[in-house]
Amino acid sequence: MDGSLLAATRTTCPYCGVGCGVLAGADGSVRGDPAHPANQGRLCSKGAALGETTGLEGRLLHPMVDGKRASWDAALDAAAEGFRRALAQHGPEGVALYVSGQLLTEDYYAANKLAKGFLGTGNIDSNSRLCMASAVAGHRRAFGEDLVPGVYADLEQADLVILVGSNLAWCHPVLHQRILAARAIRPQMRLVVVDPRRTASCEAADLHLALRPGSDVALFAGLLAHLGRAGFALPEGLGQVLDVPALTGLAPAQLATFHHWFTTTERVVTLWSQGTNQSSSGTDKANAIINCHLVTGRIGRPGMGPFSVTGQPNAMGGREVGALANMLAGHLDAERPEEVAALRDFWQAPNLALKPGLKAVDLFRAAEEGRIGAMWVMATNPAVSLPDSAQVRRALARIPTLILSDCHAGSDTAQHAQILLPALGWGEKDGTVTNSERVISRQRGFLPAPGEARADWWIIAQVARRLGWGAHFAWPNAAAIFREHAAVTELARPAPRVFDLGGLADLSDAGYDALPPTQWPVPRQGPRGGRITPPVQRLVVTPFRRPAHQGGMILLTGRLRDQWHTMTRTGRVPRLMQHAHEPVLTVNPADAADLAEGGLVRVASAWGEAVLRLALDAATPRGACFAPMHWTDQLSPCGRINAAVTPATDPVSGQPELKHTPVTLTPF
Ligand code: SF4
Repeated sequence: MDGSLLAATRTTCPYCGVGCGVLAGADGSVRGDPAHPANQGRLCSKGAALGETTGLEGRLLHPMVDGKRASWDAALDAAAEGFRRALAQHGPEGVALYVSGQLLTEDYYAANKLAKGFLGTGNIDSNSRLCMASAVAGHRRAFGEDLVPGVYADLEQADLVILVGSNLAWCHPVLHQRILAARAIRPQMRLVVVDPRRTASCEAADLHLALRPGSDVALFAGLLAHLGRAGFALPEGLGQVLDVPALTGLAPAQLATFHHWFTTTERVVTLWSQGTNQSSSGTDKANAIINCHLVTGRIGRPGMGPFSVTGQPNAMGGREVGALANMLAGHLDAERPEEVAALRDFWQAPNLALKPGLKAVDLFRAAEEGRIGAMWVMATNPAVSLPDSAQVRRALARIPTLILSDCHAGSDTAQHAQILLPALGWGEKDGTVTNSERVISRQRGFLPAPGEARADWWIIAQVARRLGWGAHFAWPNAAAIFREHAAVTELARPAPRVFDLGGLADLSDAGYDALPPTQWPVPRQGPRGGRITPPVQRLVVTPFRRPAHQGGMILLTGRLRDQWHTMTRTGRVPRLMQHAHEPVLTVNPADAADLAEGGLVRVASAWGEAVLRLALDAATPRGACFAPMHWTDQLSPCGRINAAVTPATDPVSGQPELKHTPVTLTPF
């Protein structure tokens, strides 16, 4: 081991849900951690550039109130007073938190405890609602709990890997590298990509199923019916008769190949991501996939299973602490009174919210209608990232007390906030994150706190103290919060619960500091980590429904290889900007009769419009166009594509349909 490696801090990448381990040197060097199970030393272009994102340019360094620098005391007093006023005027339903998968688990836990336990509101939702809420809802319907049964090694041990709505090569690059490395050793391994677009992930695929946008349920319901015909037992009512070629637009020969491969291959992993989840039928899509694994028994065993991967580094941590409007901490069930009572007693929180809160899109609708008196946004930029962003901006402008705690000054959301609270960023803060295969890893600070920035959990505890609940938030450090979170997972629950961190509930501060990557469940006794065979396995009927809005050209949105979210970090790295320096709309050449390549094109919908440069690309399907979701007003005054995106949501998960908006395209 060389000297610089010895001096490095073991932490994790703050970008995607793969959760790669990183060795960060005090000299700004960053390399993949060979000892971390997720990446075994690999990093993608974004992770490798982390060292170039730690400068203080654009950072929020001091509390601000009404546009002026303020002391911490004054800013925290103002935040507490805003909540007090809103509670008096509207009651608990008039206050809200909108948080982020960028928060560490300890921050998430503190925010959820403040909202549900003490403000007494279910109105805490996360930008994870945009990412994987449909997968969560699908898991809960099928398994009774939000369980990801598989482990990353399954992707290497499978003989058939099916990527559904996932451009893994760009969005979870290290997992894609692991699959390709495994296939180089076992060439019999097949890769199928299910995606309307011919993405970078298709380059290595044996079969690309370019299905019609939004038709995934038909594809997997058709597969399920085929499995029934092939001899797998299907309960009554599950084998829907659908005209799958007509609904999906796929050729019968392609479908026959897909059916044959799935039916005859024991080791199958079906991995899905935002292309599946971001849909008005996202939950049904998740269950349609899970159904095919349940009827074949291909779950919880090596090389097989349904596998949802998350977009954000700690979307899983947020799910574990229940920081979504319809969930409780520790996978406790808000619909079981005895579990609600157990949490109320544990937190000593007589005001514990008894009903679910508003999910993201509904929350901002309520705000526009004047029903939210105080909202605290943490580590996210809803003015850019939510659909129908003009509506979101009207909502933000209407909230009497809007608090934003963030690393970055001057975001589009910050323009509307009266109170700005500087938070620690990556490399400065300390806590844990959970990746897509349930591995809890430490994120460790190795840089000094800049300016007056503080940890999110500390800021939350200070506001709670000012509201009179200080004794319940008197944690000396992040380790104490983690222990409390772990203890919640041991609270009595009559139904079987797999999520169990009891074995970590007594961790010392030193043990927490040294915690190696640890896969849950971590019970006090019995086997830990590994694959899960869900104790509850339910098949769910998933009737095919068309997307919420039809007609015209269909706008698909998504991520680019080298950018992350609204580019607050990656947008500052010149070599990452070289991949795509401006937002570009791609259209199939056959659909671009009136449009000039390289010219500007107006993308207009019933909700708004954006202007982007046009590129012709045969990889984009006929009748659809694609735009990246990253650009903010500061970076591209007209390129914010969410201005045009429909706010339609899935009726079960509340996840927005970010991948199916009818638009018209005209030269600008
Ligand atoms: Fe970071 Fe994801 Fe890249 Fe790993 S694959 S380095 S977690 S962005």
